[in-house]
Amino acid sequence: MTARVLVVDDLEPNVKLLEAKLRAEYFDVITAFSGREAVDKAKAEQPDIVLLDVMMPGMDGFEACRLIKHAPETAHIPVVMVTALEQPADRVAGLEAGADDFLTKPVEDVALFARVRSLTRLKMMTDELRLRYATSKGLGVVEPGVLEPDRDDEEPRILIIDDQAEQAQKLRGNLGPACQVSIEGDPEVAMARVRAANFDLVIINMAIEAIDPLRLCSSIRSFEETRLTPILTIVRQGDTRKLVRALDIGVNDYLSRPVDKNELTARVATQIRRKRYIDHLRSSFQQSLEMAVTDELTGLYNRRYLASHLSAMFDRAFWTGRPLSVMVLDLDHFKSVNDTHGHDVGDRVIREFAERVRNSVRGIDLACRYGGEEFLIAMPDTEKEAARIVAERLRLEVAGHKLLINSGRDELKVTVSIGIASTEDGSKDDTPQRLIKRADDALYAAKSGGRNRVVAAAA
Ligand code: GH3
Ligand code: MG
Ligand code: MG
Repeated sequence: MTARVLVVDDLEPNVKLLEAKLRAEYFDVITAFSGREAVDKAKAEQPDIVLLDVMMPGMDGFEACRLIKHAPETAHIPVVMVTALEQPADRVAGLEAGADDFLTKPVEDVALFARVRSLTRLKMMTDELRLRYATSKGLGVVEPGVLEPDRDDEEPRILIIDDQAEQAQKLRGNLGPACQVSIEGDPEVAMARVRAANFDLVIINMAIEAIDPLRLCSSIRSFEETRLTPILTIVRQGDTRKLVRALDIGVNDYLSRPVDKNELTARVATQIRRKRYIDHLRSSFQQSLEMAVTDELTGLYNRRYLASHLSAMFDRAFWTGRPLSVMVLDLDHFKSVNDTHGHDVGDRVIREFAERVRNSVRGIDLACRYGGEEFLIAMPDTEKEAARIVAERLRLEVAGHKLLINSGRDELKVTVSIGIASTEDGSKDDTPQRLIKRADDALYAAKSGGRNRVVAAAA
């Protein structure tokens, strides 16, 4: 995995040193020598990560970080503050400015590469989600302006995994009342809980004795439902080896004992912010998928989905030798419903009819809105005669139903014409398009025969 790193420091030797180390590991390096230049380059060059010196004349690292994290074009880029002072207060100020991590000068190689890798890995994942989001937005299926996480005011749910009860209690105390914190001492039970509950953050004590905590971390990373759950580990000061392994496995962040309360709350807040961002992207992507295949007015599948799905149903019918029947339904004289009662009443009629269609099909059937007041139902494993019975029942239901309008003062009746065709009657070179065409022709016959009737295509 390679990544583009923006290295920022006002002292040239510092920049050169980091640049050499990173290049030796095949990272792509860009450099900047002031806070201002860092902000501009982050925007123009879109690096995968920024290593930012804290103390610089003019705009310092905190201010540069704040600007990077506030600009929509750069907010998603991870920022690591590189500081000479190992002061907890400094760290907290950095985290409040939106920094994702810290490195202390002189920068240790293992810590540097582990950090850069872990953060760029996370960024690539969020980039992927951002890209999918942009694509579906480009297709016009996502409401614009929904990129901001909307669960910000919900209480974060955190699980502490630690077999030392006293220590865990103390940590819970430090997290304060704003979070909903559970403690689990048994690693196996913990694993089951993590999978079941969609926690916003899991905190793992790396000194757990019951099992190897690294194995626990890798299990969490390996399951689909917990792949993206943030993990914060608590390590003994100086236990670099374990820490590097943990970061390689995909642990998101760490704290060293003794745990500083301010640093804890700031780091927890960063992880939760990130989790919510990912959750939000995922759910809006899901939503956009659903919107891409369903018809807005009726909730039935749309024509686009039918096009992609019908050929699979058709092929299956061919291979299994079992008939696929298709019904095309069209409301009669619907134009006059609109003309007499208005478009809104027309919409209501379409919605009610769609509901009736939905209730009369089986789970394996595919019902879609084919056009304005025209619908299509594809029924696998169904002979033409069976389809005709279903259609006739539906036609009678529609004709027998009165829709109350004008606050119940008037009633409206509509009827439907239905054409049916089946793969039973298809020639050797039958196609889904030809099948639909035969059903369409049958529908036309139903219309010209007087409407409010079902016609099945002739064999
Ligand atoms: P026929 O019995 O031959 O099918 O006559 P018809 O009037 O139903 O057929 P035609 O295709 O001439 O008119 C269909 C009408 O359906 C015209 C259009 O305004 C209306 N329509 C199409 N989509 C919608 C919709 O989403 N909402 C409403 N209210 N009306 C729609
Ligand atoms: Mg019609
Ligand atoms: Mg029509």
